[in-house]
Amino acid sequence: MTRARTRFAALALTVVTARSGVPDVGALRALGGMRGVVEHGPTGGWETTAGHGVVLSAPHEVDHVRDGAEKRAERGTGRLAFALARAVGAAGIRTHGPQAADPNWDTGHPYTARLARLSPDAPVVDLHMMRDRGVEVCVGLGPVPDLADGLWQPLVEEAVAAGLRTAVNWPFPARKRTVTAALQRAGRRAVQVELTWDCYDPTHPSMPLAYLALLRAVQRIAAAEHGPR
Ligand SMILES: [Zn+2]
Repeated sequence: MTRARTRFAALALTVVTARSGVPDVGALRALGGMRGVVEHGPTGGWETTAGHGVVLSAPHEVDHVRDGAEKRAERGTGRLAFALARAVGAAGIRTHGPQAADPNWDTGHPYTARLARLSPDAPVVDLHMMRDRGVEVCVGLGPVPDLADGLWQPLVEEAVAAGLRTAVNWPFPARKRTVTAALQRAGRRAVQVELTWDCYDPTHPSMPLAYLALLRAVQRIAAAEHGPR
C-alpha cells in the first residue's frame, strides 16, 4: 500500500511537472491504470479514488445491464477518469466487477448516490464512449444547463484548441436518465463528456490529444473551484 502510494505520488508529479511544458501522456495513463478502493453496491461494485474540487466519473467502465439487456463496457473511460482525478487531486469513481443494472439509466442507482458523497458540492464530469458520428467529443449539458455552466466552456475550448471535432448536446444532450441528469435534478453541477473509441485507443493519434485536452479543462475547472469566490 505504501509502495503503491509512493509510486502514485511520483507519477502525479511526473504528469504535472513535465519539463517540456507538455504533460507526459504515458504517465497520465499509468495514473489511471492504478487500482482504487473497491466497494460493493446491491447491483454491482465500483472503485473510488479520493480527492476534492471536482469528481470524475465513469459509470460504464464495465459491462452493464439496461432494462434486462446486456450492454457493452466503455472500456478506458475509467482509466481516463482516474488519470484526470489523480493528476489534479480530484475525486474519481468508476464501475467495477459484474453489474446487474445501469447507473446511467436506472433512477436512484447506488453508484450515483456514492458519487454524490465523494466530494460534496464539487462539480462532476461524467465520462462516456460513443461511436464516431463526425465528432470526437460531445459535451452534454443535461436537463439544467445552468448547472453545467463553467464546466462545459473549458471542456469545449480545450477540445477545440487540441484540434478535436467537438459538439455540444449532439448526439448526446444527457437530458434524460443519465448520471448527469440525476445529479442536476438534485441541484448538483454536472456535465457529460462523450469521446469516440479512438480517443481511448493508445495506438490512435486522437488519444493523446483527448487526454491532454481533458487534463487542461479539468485543471481549469479545479482551479476555479479552489480560487477566490
Ligand atoms: Zn456510456
